[in-house]
Amino acid sequence: MNNLIIIGSGCAGLTAAIYAGRANLSPLVIDGYEPGGQLSLTTLVENYPGFPDGILGPDLIENMRKQAERFGAQFKAGAIAEVDLSKRPFKVVTGSETYETRALIIASGATAKMIGLESERKLVGHGVSTCATCDGYFFRGKEIAVVGGGDSAMEEANFLSKFASRVHLLHRRNEFRASKIMVDRARANDKIHFITPVVVEEISDVSRGGVEYLTLRNTETQAATKLPVEGVFIAIGHEPNTKVYRGKLDMDENGYLITHDGTQTKVPGVFAAGDVQDHHYRQAVTAAGTGCMAALDAEKFLDAHKLSDAAL
Ligand SMILES: Cc1cc2nc3c(=O)[nH]c(=O)nc-3n(C[C@H](O)[C@H](O)[C@H](O)COP(=O)(O)OP(=O)(O)OC[C@H]3O[C@@H](n4cnc5c(N)ncnc54)[C@H](O)[C@@H]3O)c2cc1C
Repeated sequence: MNNLIIIGSGCAGLTAAIYAGRANLSPLVIDGYEPGGQLSLTTLVENYPGFPDGILGPDLIENMRKQAERFGAQFKAGAIAEVDLSKRPFKVVTGSETYETRALIIASGATAKMIGLESERKLVGHGVSTCATCDGYFFRGKEIAVVGGGDSAMEEANFLSKFASRVHLLHRRNEFRASKIMVDRARANDKIHFITPVVVEEISDVSRGGVEYLTLRNTETQAATKLPVEGVFIAIGHEPNTKVYRGKLDMDENGYLITHDGTQTKVPGVFAAGDVQDHHYRQAVTAAGTGCMAALDAEKFLDAHKLSDAAL
């Protein structure tokens, strides 16, 4: 029987583990498929407070993990495949183990949707990005591309035009899913150049360790062209890692968990933190902030149920 299980070891889960560890709750953190979460995929992080020269994402995560371990957090490999939240203690099941817990923090994050190219995967953090707020600053005065046709692609293109010399907006159709007002705003921006209907077939040059040009295929004429750019932002959406909570917790139409009064879900004793409940800010510092909140909320909940929990 655990006091507190934390699902996910990104910035939200690790911050929750630091706070819960210091509150003597001996939290158990389940790592999932991606120990360290999204930051472990990136290179330089320049906007996390406290690091004037920036810090590598994997180093930042490693520091947080050591800090959580120092206060007694335990880590287990495995991804949660099933949960029973119908009564306390809650049960969480990985492939081979079932764990029981008096309180639960879900910090399973969200995964950026990718085009699916091998070159894209290899160049993440080396010119390929899924986060304009995080990485736009690195592309000052450079020519870049944004892939996508929804509101977030338009928003990212507009935001990136503040830094880049030119932003090519690439979309596979001539029509956009984005609202008209967002498309009109992007079209009115001199720095944004629309290229449609195209798909990105290849991001080059993996052998040189950076983005130099894209190979585009026109979906109507099948003609291939090369587009020289130094960066490419993939803005085709995110998928929150919430499948196992379907029908058990409230979610919005895109599957993000809905919280109220801080980090509480609709089930008392189950809390959510980080990108799994935030489709708007999606930053390491906001994930860490809500991780802290979730640990404090869980601590208060466990305190209030101390007497009845003695029997669990
Ligand atoms: C390439 C890249 C660069 C970025 N750069 C920056 C930056 O410079 N600055 C910034 O502030 N933000 C940046 N971000 C955004 C930042 O990384 C995220 O906002 C932050 O990581 C969210 O933290 P999280 O803990 O909520 O989720 P995540 O980091 O997504 O972690 C989720 C965790 O949950 C686990 N998990 C998922 N499903 C399960 C399951 N079923 N069972 C158990 N565990 C599970 C995963 O294995 C992982 O450990 C970047 C993101 C990316 C992808």
